[in-house]
Amino acid sequence: MNLGLSGRRAAVAAASSGLGYAAARTLAAEGVRVAICGRDRDRLTLAARKLGEGAHPVVADVSTPEGATAFVREAQDALGGVDILVTNAGGPPPGGFAATPLDAYQSAIDLNLMSTVAMCKAAVPAMQERGWGRVVAITSITVRQPIPTLILSNTARAGATGFLKTLALEVAKDGVTVNSLLPGFHATERLRTLRGGDWEQVASEIPAGIVGDPGDFGAFVAFLCSEQARFVTGSAIPVDGGEYAGLL
Ligand code: NAD
Repeated sequence: MNLGLSGRRAAVAAASSGLGYAAARTLAAEGVRVAICGRDRDRLTLAARKLGEGAHPVVADVSTPEGATAFVREAQDALGGVDILVTNAGGPPPGGFAATPLDAYQSAIDLNLMSTVAMCKAAVPAMQERGWGRVVAITSITVRQPIPTLILSNTARAGATGFLKTLALEVAKDGVTVNSLLPGFHATERLRTLRGGDWEQVASEIPAGIVGDPGDFGAFVAFLCSEQARFVTGSAIPVDGGEYAGLL
């Protein structure tokens, strides 16, 4: 299937590795010109090199609104505009209610909610003017099914999901779609940090019996950016091997 993405321009945040990198790799393979950001110049440069000629690395920390905005602005300058925005960031520290200090909440909200708002503020108005745009936000299955040991993630991502849904409704008539993907357990550094490297144990907890492949996740991002996905907006879609146990 031709996704109709060749020649589009994408800003993919937090993409030195993991799910962000996988999204950038699939988009680049579809002929999209990509700009990626990360905090570490060396890791980012290496990632951009692996993505191929034309991938533009931007050293930026999206955990502040200034950093998130600067990333999109630099991507727009480098690519001549941004048609596709993939919002993403690292995950906040684990912990439940008792173990999590009050001041940790603001940092998590900045990292996983305000970064999304800031990047959309910087990217979406120009998409509306051009009459075409795609926003895909990487959030978490915790949006549907909170994980007891991830109170910061559960809290911040719920806010991001409310923001994204509201944005989707406002810009739908302008040819801009806004969706989020909710990863369950995928084989990345984040999961290694949270669960150790015992993928077999993690897989045994997932109905599909496998840990998510970031490459598959990246392909799903690319589909949501495609022409064929123009009628999909305002959705929050789990990519989790059946982990989410609810009916809807
Ligand atoms: P990861 O930690 O493996 O990779 C995150 C990437 O983002 C790294 O390259 C890191 O350097 C970069 N990054 C982190 N903080 C950044 C910042 N402030 N500014 C710029 N770059 C930054 O994470 P991942 O597994 O790829 O997950 C991506 C997102 O999805 C995270 O928010 C994570 O919590 C969430 N998530 C992941 C899983 C999973 O199983 N992997 C499950 C649910 C949710």
